[in-house]
Amino acid sequence: MRRPIPSKVIDRLKAAAGSGGFVDDPEAIEAYVTDERDLYHGATPLVLRPNSTAAVAAIVRICAKAGVGVVPQGGNTGYCGGSVPSERGGEIVLSLARLNRIRAVDAANHAITVEAGCILADVQRAADDAGLLFPLSLGAEGSCQIGGNLSTNAGGVQVLRYGNARDLVLGLEVVLPDGRVLAALRGLRKDNAGYDLKQLFLGAEGTLGVITAAVLKLYPRPRETCTAMVALRDAAAATALLARLRAATGDAVSSFEYLNRACLELVIAHIDGARDPFAEPHGDYAVVEIAGADGSRDIAEAALSQAIEAGEAADAVVATNVGQAQDLWRLRELIPEAQKRAGGSIKHDVSVPLSRIPELLARGRAAALKVIPNARVIAFGHIGDGNIHFNLSPPAVTSQGGDVAVFLAKAAAVERPIHDLAVELGGSFSAEHGIGVLKKPELARYKSAVELDLMRTLKRALDPTGVMNPGKVVDGD
Ligand SMILES: Cc1cc2nc3c(=O)[nH]c(=O)nc-3n(C[C@H](O)[C@H](O)[C@H](O)COP(=O)(O)OP(=O)(O)OC[C@H]3O[C@@H](n4cnc5c(N)ncnc54)[C@H](O)[C@@H]3O)c2cc1C
Repeated sequence: MRRPIPSKVIDRLKAAAGSGGFVDDPEAIEAYVTDERDLYHGATPLVLRPNSTAAVAAIVRICAKAGVGVVPQGGNTGYCGGSVPSERGGEIVLSLARLNRIRAVDAANHAITVEAGCILADVQRAADDAGLLFPLSLGAEGSCQIGGNLSTNAGGVQVLRYGNARDLVLGLEVVLPDGRVLAALRGLRKDNAGYDLKQLFLGAEGTLGVITAAVLKLYPRPRETCTAMVALRDAAAATALLARLRAATGDAVSSFEYLNRACLELVIAHIDGARDPFAEPHGDYAVVEIAGADGSRDIAEAALSQAIEAGEAADAVVATNVGQAQDLWRLRELIPEAQKRAGGSIKHDVSVPLSRIPELLARGRAAALKVIPNARVIAFGHIGDGNIHFNLSPPAVTSQGGDVAVFLAKAAAVERPIHDLAVELGGSFSAEHGIGVLKKPELARYKSAVELDLMRTLKRALDPTGVMNPGKVVDGD
């Protein structure tokens, strides 16, 4: 149990953050202590908003000495409660929002150096201004920060082609739990000089240090892009269609996203302007993007026609301009927002080998409905990566009738069978959203004793006093 933060320490922290570098008004603090899903409401007397690595280091040094917990916060869009402090009020929130400069673009090296607080969309824009592509892309890109993306090893809609956030990092700058700075902003694609230390901090959810800057990989922009929404024969046809498109396009499929009919209906019901692009309702859909050399579009369209002939797809709508492509993407990307508007949601972020997806969807539905018979199964996600957000929404009547609390009370009872199923099928209970506080018990349940022991050993070695994001992911003791 941490003590309240002494006022002398608070004064020193404010001084280290500099003028305009802190928030201590309780009303303004509210936005920093409540998480995206409204599951966690923490408390803190102080939010610090430093605008340099040196200031972050000074703050962490003070906290380490005084035994005050530091909760790094990016865009606060995370789904596992990792970015908000505990209710006890003995931790400070360290917002990276003002550390948001693009430090350099090295077009010849296909690399960009950015500070942790850069909004993901701003990094994409800076790459585009240089005639290049930064491929990390996800629904929260207008508000999440690159430091948060790296700390959660975010996935998104282009993992199939470019990998997770971890795969896009060349170099890192990190403030360690004792306030020292690991200055490793190297733009190298080859560097086998000892342990690859940056990997420790990617996906660590702020428990081993504060990421302050990164060197990221850039790519050539595709010459031609084809965006389509495909009505699938059934969910099982998704894997055959993906294999067909990858083979036909010389592996130019950049996105392959799944949604079931209930997702589409939810988006149409809750998002202005959303409409069904097909004349007939279908059970399962994929939003696909093929991005490659000139001629990619023709090849993709021919492959889609063959998929219809082969019976893998029932129908396909191909966007003919950027606006239409955006409309199709909105149907996929606004599912979380539609779920939010429909009332509480129970989320599962599971992955399995691609070949086990149909089994996951079928057995997952049966398991979920056994616990909540009238729930709506909102299954969608990065099926090309074997990652399904197997979510549940309350039945339509309940969401209006105010029984959401009853629905949400069943979350724990339904989570366990879904996670057990994913693990039984050779998968993971947490594909891309991480652990935070929400999935700590699951980590303890599914990780082996050796894995847990190694994680604790690393935590103790890097953060012996336990000041970095206390209570998240794993405890050192
Ligand atoms: C609409 C929507 C769509 C989403 N889609 C996806 C998706 O497709 N794929 C996906 O992976 N996620 C997705 N997410 C989840 C979320 O956006 C990602 O986890 C994102 O990477 C979090 O970034 P953030 O800046 O908001 O981090 P935060 O939520 O602020 O923090 C997340 C974790 O990282 C730590 N952290 C933040 N910044 C730093 C730093 N600089 N140094 C050290 N630790 C830090 C925090 O302490 C916390 O533990 C989605 C969320 C929403 C709301």
